[in-house]
Amino acid sequence: MPNPSFPFSRRQFLASSAAGAALTLLHPFSARAAAGQAHLRVMETTDLHVHVYPYDYYSDKPRDTIGLARTASHIADIRAEATNSMLVDNGDFLQGNPMGDYIAYERGMKEGDMHPVIMAMNAVGFDASTLGNHEFNYGLDFLMKSLAGADFPIVSANIATEMGSAPTADKTLIKPYTILDRTITDGAGTEHQIKIGLIGFVPPQIMNWDRRHLEGKVNTRDIVETARAYVPQMKEAGADIIIALSHSGIGSADHTDLMENASVPLAMVEGIDAIMTGHSHLVFPGSRYDGFAGVDAKRGTLHGKPAAMGGFWGSHLGVIDLMLETSGGQWKVMNFETEARPISKRNEDRSITPLVESQQYVLDSIKKEHEATLEYIRRPVGKTSAPLQSYFALVADDPSVQIVSIAQEWYIGQMMKGTAYEGLPILSAAAPFKAGGRGGPEYYTDVPTGDVAIKNVADLYLYPNTVRAVKINGAQVKGWLERSAGIFNQVKPGDADQVLLNPSFPSYNFDVIDGVTYKIDLSQPSRFGPKGEMLNPDASRITDLMYKGKPVTDDMEFIVATNNYRASGGGDFPGAKGDTIIFEGPDTNRDVIVRYIVEQGTINPSADANWTFKSLPGTTVLFDTGPKAKDYVKDVKGVAIEPAGDGPDGFARFRISL
Ligand code: MN
Ligand code: MG
Repeated sequence: MPNPSFPFSRRQFLASSAAGAALTLLHPFSARAAAGQAHLRVMETTDLHVHVYPYDYYSDKPRDTIGLARTASHIADIRAEATNSMLVDNGDFLQGNPMGDYIAYERGMKEGDMHPVIMAMNAVGFDASTLGNHEFNYGLDFLMKSLAGADFPIVSANIATEMGSAPTADKTLIKPYTILDRTITDGAGTEHQIKIGLIGFVPPQIMNWDRRHLEGKVNTRDIVETARAYVPQMKEAGADIIIALSHSGIGSADHTDLMENASVPLAMVEGIDAIMTGHSHLVFPGSRYDGFAGVDAKRGTLHGKPAAMGGFWGSHLGVIDLMLETSGGQWKVMNFETEARPISKRNEDRSITPLVESQQYVLDSIKKEHEATLEYIRRPVGKTSAPLQSYFALVADDPSVQIVSIAQEWYIGQMMKGTAYEGLPILSAAAPFKAGGRGGPEYYTDVPTGDVAIKNVADLYLYPNTVRAVKINGAQVKGWLERSAGIFNQVKPGDADQVLLNPSFPSYNFDVIDGVTYKIDLSQPSRFGPKGEMLNPDASRITDLMYKGKPVTDDMEFIVATNNYRASGGGDFPGAKGDTIIFEGPDTNRDVIVRYIVEQGTINPSADANWTFKSLPGTTVLFDTGPKAKDYVKDVKGVAIEPAGDGPDGFARFRISL
C-alpha cells in the first residue's frame, strides 16, 4: 500500500534527507555526533487498543486526543529530527474499542484476513512490536491470524506453549526476541552495521484474565526471570544494544515472582539498555511517577536506564534518544534523553487543542473498516427484554443499573474461579451515571425494549473504568450503603411533599449493591456527608440488610464487583479505600457489558427491587426527573409513585408515598 512518509527500505534507518534536515531542527545528538558516534532515536506507541482514527466509536463522535493517524504525524516529524530512527509498538493493539469488537465478533479473522490495526501499523511502518495482555481477549486462533499480517517482527519471551527446564528451553508462542541488522549513519556520514536486540514481555496474569482462552494451551513466566535468561543469549548472538519492549507498568522496585508491573526490576537486568513500557496507560517521563523507588520521573529513567511510556490510544509518542559510540566494532550507549510527546493539549478551560493533524495515508489504510465499524456501532448486537432507562434510578431499583451489576457479577464470577476466593458470595455495586441533575432533563439513559447497539452501551456506562473486586465484611457492606444513602435528605415522618434529593450529591456516588436486599429509612439522619465525610457515626439508614433471606452480620465475608474508581477510594466509601482490592481486571466495565450482551444475545435487565425505601405511612416526598419518565412510571417496582406536575428547568415532578 502506498506510503509517502515511509519510502525507505526496512533494512535501513531513515537518514534525514537534505530537504528534511533544512526544514527541521536536528536533535542535539544528531547535530553533535562525531565520527564513530551515532544518534539513534527509538519511538514507541503503546496500548493503541485499535485506535487508528481520532474517533470515539462509543459516543459516535470525533475525538482529538486519540488515534494512530495523529501519532503518525509526530512520527514523521520526529524521524526528520534524527539521523537514525526506529519505531516500535508495545502491545495492546488488538482489542479495546468497537472496531476490535467488530472484527472479533462480527467480521471474523479467516486465514489470510488482515486485521485493520495491523494494516494501519504496516502503513505507518513499525520495526517491531510485542504482545500486550489484551491481545489474548479473543483467543489464540484469532491472535495468530491477526499477527500473520504484520510485516514487522512481533516478539514475546514469557509465553510458552511448552515449558522447558529454563526460560530459554521453553517453546515460546511467538519469537521471544529479534535482532535487527541495521545500517546506522554516524556523525561523519559514514554508514556502519549495528545489531539491535528487541525482547518482549507480557504480564503473566494473562493466565487468570483470559483463562478461558489460555488454560491448557500456554503458560507464562515471570518477566524478570525470563529476561535474565534470554538477555545473555541475545548478547551472544551479537546484539550491540538491547531494548526491552515491556508491556508492563512502572511499579515496585522490589522484584516479586510473577509481578504484573515489573518494569523497574526489569531495568536492573544486565545487558538491557533501554525499556519501553506500557500497560498502565500513563505517561513516562511524567510526574505521575514522582517518588517511585528506582525511578527518575523527570529524566525518564528506571534504575538509571532510559525508559518511556507513550500514554494510550495513540495519545503520546514515547521517545528515547540514544547517543551511541562504536569502539572495536561494538556499539555502546554513551548518553540518552527521553520524552513523551502528546498529540493534543488540554487548555485551562478543559477544551482540547490538537497538536497534529491526522495523516491521510493512515486513515486511508483502513477506511473501509472504519466505515464498517460505524455501521456496526449503530446496528443491534443483542436485544433487551426490558427498557434500559434511568429515569427512576435514584428512587427505585432500576434496569440501567441492574444490567451493569449483572454483567460485573458474571465477569467477576469467572475471574474468581480457581482462586482462593472462589465460593465467597459475589455482590455487585453500580451507580447511575446519567441521572439528570446538572446534565439536565434529557440526561438519562433511555434504550427501549428490543435492539441494543454498541453505542447504547456507552450510554449505560459512561466512563472508561476498569473492573475491580474487593473483599469486605458485612459491616463494610452496610457502611458502603450508608454512604450511598447520603444522597437523600432526611424526611419528617407524616409530612407531605418534602424534597427528596440532596442536589450536591452526584448520582455516580449512589451505589446500589446487587446480591443483597435492604431498605433505606429516610427518617434517620445520614451517616455521611456528600463527599463521604463522617457526619453521624451512630446514624443508620440501612435496615433489613439480608443475604439470601438471612440478616447480614458484621463479620460475614463478601466479594463486591465494582470499578477502579470506587475500589481505589473514589467517593471515599467504607470498604473501598484501596486496601481491600483482591482483583484488578484489565477489562473495562464497558467491555464486560458488551461481551455479556454479545454472549447472551437477549438480556433481561428487569430490576428485582432488591432495595426499597422503608415504609413511613402518611409521608410523601417529591422527586424531579426527565419528562420522558412518564412513559415508564408504571414499570417502577417497589415504590408508590405518581406524577405531580412540572419541576423547574424542564424537569417533571413525581410524588412518592413512603
Ligand atoms: Mn492497555
Ligand atoms: Mg437489583
